[in-house]
Amino acid sequence: MTALLDVRDLSAFYGASQALFSVDVALGEGEVVALAGRNGMGKTTTIRSICGLVSSRARTLRLAGCDIAGTAPHRIARLGIGLVPEGRRCFRSLSVRENLLVAARKGPWTLSRVEALFPRLAERRDQSAGLLSGGEQQMVAIGRALMTNPRLLILDEATEGLAPLIRKEIWAAIHALKGERLAILVVDKTLSELLPIADRCVVLENGRTVWTGHPADLSREMQERYLGV
Ligand code: ATP
Repeated sequence: MTALLDVRDLSAFYGASQALFSVDVALGEGEVVALAGRNGMGKTTTIRSICGLVSSRARTLRLAGCDIAGTAPHRIARLGIGLVPEGRRCFRSLSVRENLLVAARKGPWTLSRVEALFPRLAERRDQSAGLLSGGEQQMVAIGRALMTNPRLLILDEATEGLAPLIRKEIWAAIHALKGERLAILVVDKTLSELLPIADRCVVLENGRTVWTGHPADLSREMQERYLGV
């Protein structure tokens, strides 16, 4: 089977400073992969490199069989990556519904399906996104990514800094998306939620993939060593 995402030997740079040295991440259709590692190990940079937002080099960088190395971010998005970046990005002056509709591309995800996934967004449909709580804004950001009908959804710290109840709702939504066999690459500090949902886990240390496997095989020692648990 061709991997949906196939990243091998990825290196990335911020100006003269090298942040990634050799990252390998692969993800199949319908798979949920956790990208884990302590702070500053390169998770966000890996995601930004995959999306074309950071200057990078790789032996292989393919999405659904297409070489995406050097491709502009908007084209990579069109090829099927829905990115939910750190920090709840949405258009604050647009209503919730407008935020969702401007992102829409053809496919199974529609306004009504996003509103069914996040009923709070249906209730707040006509409010300006800027007036929503942080958690609701994060739901808008996830909803916007889904409205693009991605083949791969990437969630970078989607639950960070949110109230417990809202985090629970977001994890429930991620479980629902997994149930629909959407491929998801997910970074999150809450390992107790992240590891059980992942089919596979890729662990980064100092800009390198140091372990890949089933989360159940991540021993206590490895969790301590690589994830600071
Ligand atoms: P965190 O969990 O803290 O977000 P991370 O695993 O996502 O960490 P990255 O944010 O990818 O890690 O950072 C990887 C390395 O790149 C770090 O050494 C960081 O200091 C460096 N870095 C990140 N962003 C920049 C930037 N804009 N300019 C220069 N260096 C950066």
